[in-house]
Amino acid sequence: MKERYPTKKIYVGDVAVGGDAPISVQSMTYSDTADVAATVEQINRLHFAGADMVRVAVPQMEDALALQQIKEQVSLPLIADIHFNYKLALEAAKWVDCIRFNPGNIGEKSRIKEIVKACKERNLPIRIGVNSGSLEKEFDQKYGSTAEGMVASAEYNIKYLEDLDFTDIKISLKASDVERTVDAYRMLRPKNNYPFHLGVTEAGTIFHATIKSAIGLGTLLLDGIGDTMRISITGELEEEIKVGKAILKDSGRLQEGLNIISCPTCGRIEADLVTAVAEVERRTAHIKTPMDVSVMGCVVNAIGEAKHADVAIAFGKGNGLIMVKGEVISKLPESQLVDAFVAEVEKFAEENK
Ligand code: SF4
Repeated sequence: MKERYPTKKIYVGDVAVGGDAPISVQSMTYSDTADVAATVEQINRLHFAGADMVRVAVPQMEDALALQQIKEQVSLPLIADIHFNYKLALEAAKWVDCIRFNPGNIGEKSRIKEIVKACKERNLPIRIGVNSGSLEKEFDQKYGSTAEGMVASAEYNIKYLEDLDFTDIKISLKASDVERTVDAYRMLRPKNNYPFHLGVTEAGTIFHATIKSAIGLGTLLLDGIGDTMRISITGELEEEIKVGKAILKDSGRLQEGLNIISCPTCGRIEADLVTAVAEVERRTAHIKTPMDVSVMGCVVNAIGEAKHADVAIAFGKGNGLIMVKGEVISKLPESQLVDAFVAEVEKFAEENK
C-alpha cells in the first residue's frame, strides 16, 4: 500500500488531523443549531456512533450564540460552518474548535483578518471547503464547474490565509460526482502539505452515497491522500460514520474490529447463512480488536478461508464446524453455532487486545 502523503499535523480540539494521526471520520448535525437540546442530542448520537468530530451549521447569529451552551454539553470537537457573515465566525470562534469558511466568500480583507486573528488567539484551525457548486464567480466563468476550477478556488483561498501568516489549514474539494472529486484532490495534493478533508458531496441516499464514497474516497485513500473525511448521505447520522469507518477499514487505513468474510451463498447451501451473518455482525459490532473472521455456507471453500481467518465457521447439513486459526475446535448442531462462534470471537478479541 502507498504511504500516506506527508501532511502538516493540525489539531481540532484534541483530535490531530494530518501527519501520522489516524484518519478521522466526521459528520454534521441537521438540527437547527440554535435548538441547543436537539443539537446536543445529535452530537451525542454521533459520538456514540464513533465520530471523531462534528460540524454544525451557523447561518444566523442565534446559532452562533447557542454554541457556548452546546460546547458545554458535548465532548466531541466542534466545527462551525460559516458562509458570508464574518460576525458569525467571530462569535463562533469563541467557543468551537475549528472554523470552516472560505475567505473568498467573506470578501473584505479587514474582516478576514479579524477572523484569522480570532482563530490564532485560540489556536483554531480553519477548513477551506471548496464545493464545485459554489465556486467564486471568476473561477466559475474561467473554468466552469471543473476540477481545475475547484483547485484554482482552493489555491486562491489558501493564499488569502497564507498572506496573513496563517497555515493551520485543512482543505476539502468536494464535487457531487466521483471523477471531479478525485481529480481535484489529486491535482491539488502535490501543491501543498495541508491535511485534506475528503468527501463526495450531495452523494444521495445511503445506497448511492456508499458507492460513490467508496469509489471516490477509496481511490484517494489507496493513493495515500486524505487525513479526515465525511460521507455525505441523505439519511441518518449514524450511517455516515458507519460507512466512513467501513471505507477506512476496507482501504486498509484503519485496523479496527472484524473483517467479516462471508460467502455469497449458492445451491450447495444447507443453512440460513444470511440470518447467521447478520446476527454475527450485530453481536460483534462492539469489538475493536482487528481480526479476520469467516462465515461460510458449506465446507467447499470454508476450510480454505478458515486457514486465513482468526475464527471461522463452516455450516453443514444441520450442523457445522468452528475453527480457530484453521484448526477445528468443535462440531456443533446448527442451532448452537452462532452462539459458540460469537463466544470464540469475543475470546480471541480479549486475548489479542
Ligand atoms: S461456501 Fe459453499 S454455499 Fe457458500 S458460495 Fe461457496 S460453495 Fe456455495
